[in-house]
Amino acid sequence: AKQRGKATFVRYVDGMGEPVLAHMQLGGELRRALDNDELRVVYQPIVRLGDGALVGVEALVRWHHPSRGAIGPAEFIPVAERTGLIVPLGRFVLRETCRQAAAWLTEHGPDALPEAALNVSARQLHDPDFVADVSAALAESGLPCERLVLEVTESAVLRGQQVSRTLYELSRLGVRLALDDFGTGESSLSLLRAFPAAIVKLDKSFVEGIEIDDGRPAAADARQAVARAVIQLARALGLSTVAEGVENAEQAAVLRELGYTTGQGYHLAEPMTAEAVSTLLASNEPV
Ligand code: C2E
Ligand code: CA
Ligand code: CA
Ligand code: CA
Repeated sequence: AKQRGKATFVRYVDGMGEPVLAHMQLGGELRRALDNDELRVVYQPIVRLGDGALVGVEALVRWHHPSRGAIGPAEFIPVAERTGLIVPLGRFVLRETCRQAAAWLTEHGPDALPEAALNVSARQLHDPDFVADVSAALAESGLPCERLVLEVTESAVLRGQQVSRTLYELSRLGVRLALDDFGTGESSLSLLRAFPAAIVKLDKSFVEGIEIDDGRPAAADARQAVARAVIQLARALGLSTVAEGVENAEQAAVLRELGYTTGQGYHLAEPMTAEAVSTLLASNEPV
């Protein structure tokens, strides 16, 4: 890389190659964004592959910055995690999602939406108030506990006693836990033994290219092998599965052949506003 002087170098001393000063500034702005109602939640449908029926939604946070425009979670969630702002941010997403999911059930009937999922960071699992926050969000919204799914990643779960206790208490509350990005971690298999998960979400890296049969069979077949192993494991353990990142009909077809009944991805439906989900629920049509 070209030498561009000390100032540039100092910005990258983080070791992760991330611009520290930019992060600090973003952190300050994120704090303000939380107070100023700049954060919104969109919902991506989770869909039955056989008939396109909506079986749930995943809540995904968005930041509408007044001057920078839309900032994606890949950019600000790491900042929120590092600064601890993920705790109030996560609480906002939790309350908003429970409120919205309860409203959908009121508006469209108790069978309208089996589940509402949201992402939970490691830092939240370490927060001693987290279980109480979940419990309060359910009570305030009136959302039945079994409709709420908390998505956690393997790396978040592999962090000691406090987290194990929290996960245990959450499952005792009656909410369901999903292992997100499944297959990307280092000890997915041993983790499943200890972790009270109800759902595994096959990571999109195993779906990408799964349909390709272009004379280079090895690449596609390695992904199919992982996808097949995951569904066999899930069945043996009595877990539900969701295949993530379904981007075309061919992928959906291969996944169905492998035994996946449920998927999520741009081919099935993109993340959308709560109003758009309401329209889907009202139409009674497949997604
Ligand atoms: P994730 O939990 O794995 O969420 C799925 C991401 O994949 C979302 O990106 C979604 O828009 C994207 N996606 C959906 N369908 C497709 C597809 O067909 N192809 C591809 N390539 N991507 C697809 P998004 O919304 O940018 O979120 C990125 C990540 O940010 C999430 O990954 C999650 O780890 C994190 N995140 C988002 N919202 C929250 C939140 O409220 N709390 C926490 N802690 N993390 C969040
Ligand atoms: Ca997720
Ligand atoms: Ca995921
Ligand atoms: Ca092949």
